[in-house]
Amino acid sequence: MGIVVQKFGGTSVGSIERIRNVARRIREVHSQGHEVVVTVSAMGKQTDELVALAGQITDDPSPREMDMLLTTGEQISIALLTMALHELGLPARSFTGWQAGMVTDAVHGKARIKRIDTEKIRQCLDRGEIVVVAGFQGISEDGEITTLGRGGSDTTAVALAAALSADYCEINTDVTGVFTTDPRIVPQARKLDEISFDEMLELANLGAAVLHPRSVECAMKHNVPLVVRSSFTEEPGTWVKESVTMEDTLQVRGIAYDLNVARIKVLGLPNRVETLSRLFGLLADAHINVDMIVQSEHDAEVVDVAFSVGEDEWKQARNVIEQNRETLGYVKLISETGLAKVSAVGAGMVTNPGVAARMFTALTDAGIRIKMVSTSEIKISCAIARERAKDAVRALHTAFGLDVNIQQEVTSPAGV
Ligand code: ASP
Ligand code: MG
Repeated sequence: MGIVVQKFGGTSVGSIERIRNVARRIREVHSQGHEVVVTVSAMGKQTDELVALAGQITDDPSPREMDMLLTTGEQISIALLTMALHELGLPARSFTGWQAGMVTDAVHGKARIKRIDTEKIRQCLDRGEIVVVAGFQGISEDGEITTLGRGGSDTTAVALAAALSADYCEINTDVTGVFTTDPRIVPQARKLDEISFDEMLELANLGAAVLHPRSVECAMKHNVPLVVRSSFTEEPGTWVKESVTMEDTLQVRGIAYDLNVARIKVLGLPNRVETLSRLFGLLADAHINVDMIVQSEHDAEVVDVAFSVGEDEWKQARNVIEQNRETLGYVKLISETGLAKVSAVGAGMVTNPGVAARMFTALTDAGIRIKMVSTSEIKISCAIARERAKDAVRALHTAFGLDVNIQQEVTSPAGV
């Protein structure tokens, strides 16, 4: 039997009793004959507490010292968990990220993993030991301690699974799997048995917090099967893998939402070849992430452009444009905050016409005005007023037949 990587999040190791529970979960997999590598987050809300402590000293901490501080959280949980494994009579050894050979670039606070020197881990596994690796942390080539960004332990786990060619990677968390939408908004949301990597990546990027988007990216790239399941129950979770066999005909697998959206309209731009590249080049130089873009041509002379950004970036985006008013040559700038984006995601969309029509109809029937639209092969997103976001999620969940016990029609509406 091969290697299994098990990851346990902060809630799962939030108390000594829970750490003991995690040790028993590890024993289960180990007793099936697998070699086991474990990754854990810091206990409970400890990372937030450490951030708050730093905040009592300065508003602008050095990123290097921040990493030094935050990596202590995971160091506590690996040591305690390893002791709990010893108490169960299991051979185990804990490693910090750098001891485990987790080599990253040098960008403090959001380092990316370059490689994992797995020799030490493999030696332990060969001796029959369970290896417990601190999540979320690594070391740069010049020996600096780094972190992978908030929520980064998922990525540690998947990267370990890829580097060790593990059979699969188990993400144990406080929910029982990946749902068709946020069950706090739609109680009829149901747990998916399976979801494909690209669907999961869209959902994670669109705001489903269950997996860190970079971990899904890494799993997809290295084809590491993932299972998301609860640390607290025996329920089977959701498998995230290359292609899914069941429910293949579903057009839409999930509804995601993002409440942090603003829109900027630049009116009366000169209708020239370089207009768009100039406008979005300026925004890119300012590291502003633009999402939806709509261009409408008035005539041969004049064009309007509207785009969406995260609401936390709209001021900056507006400033950049205003500062370049002369170069851009527009007439008027209008910005609007308080928006949300709702998205329908599903690999089946590519081959099923009519998904957009169904989405627009559902929103229209709910009296929700659509302000912008963007599509990809596997998703359709609409910007709407934020105060209608929850209504929109509910309406779409029903319209796409995702509510529990309702079979989705696989036929598409006529005429589209
Ligand atoms: N402890 C880190 C955080 O809270 C990493 C993680 O939990 O994945 O962001
Ligand atoms: Mg997490």
